[in-house]
Amino acid sequence: MRTIGLIGGLSWESTVPYYRVINETVREARGGLSSARIILSSLDFAEIAALQHANDWAGCQRVLCDAARALRAAGAECVAICTNTMHKLADEVEAAAGLPLLHIADATARAIQAAGLSQVGLLGTRFTMESDFYRDRLQTRHGIDTLIPAAEARDTVHRIIYDELCQGVVCPESRTAARDITAALAAQGAQGIVLGCTELPMLLHAHDSVVPVFDTGVIHARHIARWALGEA
Ligand code: GLU
Repeated sequence: MRTIGLIGGLSWESTVPYYRVINETVREARGGLSSARIILSSLDFAEIAALQHANDWAGCQRVLCDAARALRAAGAECVAICTNTMHKLADEVEAAAGLPLLHIADATARAIQAAGLSQVGLLGTRFTMESDFYRDRLQTRHGIDTLIPAAEARDTVHRIIYDELCQGVVCPESRTAARDITAALAAQGAQGIVLGCTELPMLLHAHDSVVPVFDTGVIHARHIARWALGEA
């Protein structure tokens, strides 16, 4: 089995399910006591979030690339970033690691295609919803169109992620707001909703949406496990 290198802690709330899902997938495949070989570099999210909001992406790059190099030195054979937002730096992290980077948007795109969908709504941080790095990859590499919420709704989702979910807080009124935003995207033609932030499944579940939801963290974690097993 190949050794997985994870960059996590972004936030740790969403790294926990990665560890569980990767190990569950390996146990399902191999049975018995089998578990994944994982090296985790878990970062301080306070440091990263401050750099993100200061628009200091070079600072983020330094921290993530250092983590990637450390994973390789420790014996990792791939690198995976356990969050959507920091895939803004996917190319730089992959180059620093000198290892294959298992991209969350590619795994998600395959799940969307397997469901027979070609236009989805995207929820995530403002960085993920408003920058090109995620939506362009879905479009140019996979032919999937994305719709994003209106500006005020984007601010709401962004605030919920950083002020609540990444701090382990789940508020019923935020769930109601997120449901409404999801319904609006579906009404505009989204055939599915990409939970393009790995904490959003703490808030939104399949029954909160009239169209299918895609849990990017779980999809990514299963793909990482299959890669380690030599099946992907
Ligand atoms: N985990 C979130 C995501 O998937 C947000 C945290 C971050 O900014 O990395 O985008």
